[in-house]
Amino acid sequence: MECRACHAPIIKFFSLGQMPLVNLFLNKEEIINEKRFDLSVGFCHRCYLVQLINAVAPEKLFSDYIYFSSTSKFFLEHCKETAEQLTKKLKLNSKSLVLEIASNDGAQLQFFKNLGIEVLGIDPAKNIAEVANKKGIPTISEFFNYKFAKRLKEDKNIQADLIFGANVLAHVPEIVDFVKGIKIILKPNGTAVFEFPYLKGLLEKKFDTIYHEHVFYYSLIALKNLFKKANLEIYDVEITPMQGGSLKIFVSHPNNFRISANVKNLINKEIQDGFDKIETFKKMNEDVLNLKNELTLLLKKLKSEGKKIAAYSAPAKGNILLNYFNINENYLDFIVDKSEAKQGLCTPGTHLLVHPPKKINQDKPDYLLILCWNIADEIIKQLEDYHNAGGKFIIPIPDIKIV
Ligand SMILES: [Zn+2]
Repeated sequence: MECRACHAPIIKFFSLGQMPLVNLFLNKEEIINEKRFDLSVGFCHRCYLVQLINAVAPEKLFSDYIYFSSTSKFFLEHCKETAEQLTKKLKLNSKSLVLEIASNDGAQLQFFKNLGIEVLGIDPAKNIAEVANKKGIPTISEFFNYKFAKRLKEDKNIQADLIFGANVLAHVPEIVDFVKGIKIILKPNGTAVFEFPYLKGLLEKKFDTIYHEHVFYYSLIALKNLFKKANLEIYDVEITPMQGGSLKIFVSHPNNFRISANVKNLINKEIQDGFDKIETFKKMNEDVLNLKNELTLLLKKLKSEGKKIAAYSAPAKGNILLNYFNINENYLDFIVDKSEAKQGLCTPGTHLLVHPPKKINQDKPDYLLILCWNIADEIIKQLEDYHNAGGKFIIPIPDIKIV
């Protein structure tokens, strides 16, 4: 296998084996035909890009996507703050155009629109683009690539002051083609902002960000090389709490902005921490195995004491944890998720029927395993009554905690 950015060979350092597509929830009849695909991660010695060894075709993953971003309150607050921050930092006004790639149901763009800024969304999932358009967020249902960007610019004369993409940079296998598309539709003084899970998480036992949708696990040193291929420059970077630890990068045409100290400092830190060496990443094998042993031992012990355990929410990452740790009806009495689109369907690989959260009040489990551990605080606050009545929470990642 060769690097998707620079074509040097990539070397495998971690594998989850054969895994189901973790956003593909199933009817009972579909279970028998469920497919599994290899899920292994490798490292490129030449450009430092960490990536999947085998990718699944995006058409299989995103054409009828079930995830609606507007379901999390924490996420919506983050979107609002992002719109306010970027409008101020980039001095956007009523003449500006904000273009979002993988805009989902318009959760982010609505906050720019509320600030009086023109918006345009692009999202490959037809069902979700429809929802966005109905909400008044103009959205084109397409995969973003160089060809599409060229069409936008040449046929419709569209160039953006801000191109925004949250959790898209990690999803696109043809990544060099993608960044060349960004180059075309970015106005001469425009900025492209991307936010995505930071590679560092893999070294902090957050292995459950590895799933088929995430082709890339980015460090800043790898991104610098990547954007250079399209003659673009990263001029600022922030570390954010999204997804349990994300990077937000600011990209422009070269020499437009002063390169901030944040960029230089983080690059130095990554080199110091060995992000340019495969040995650094090999260490995650032992850490993840230890976590698996510790969590399954705990669940086994609780079961032997007759405790009732349920899982709270079924995000992609949660399904990776359940499948890789082999946690299914052997330990879990049931699973709940707020998303109505998931309720009544079975979880990928583990085939647990997804119930609405009200089942927690009805069945009163002793423990709730929080699979969306990155927003555990929010969940615990929401389930205050359950907690006050003696219910306990298990937070599995990065270190197992019972509260
Ligand atoms: Zn490479």
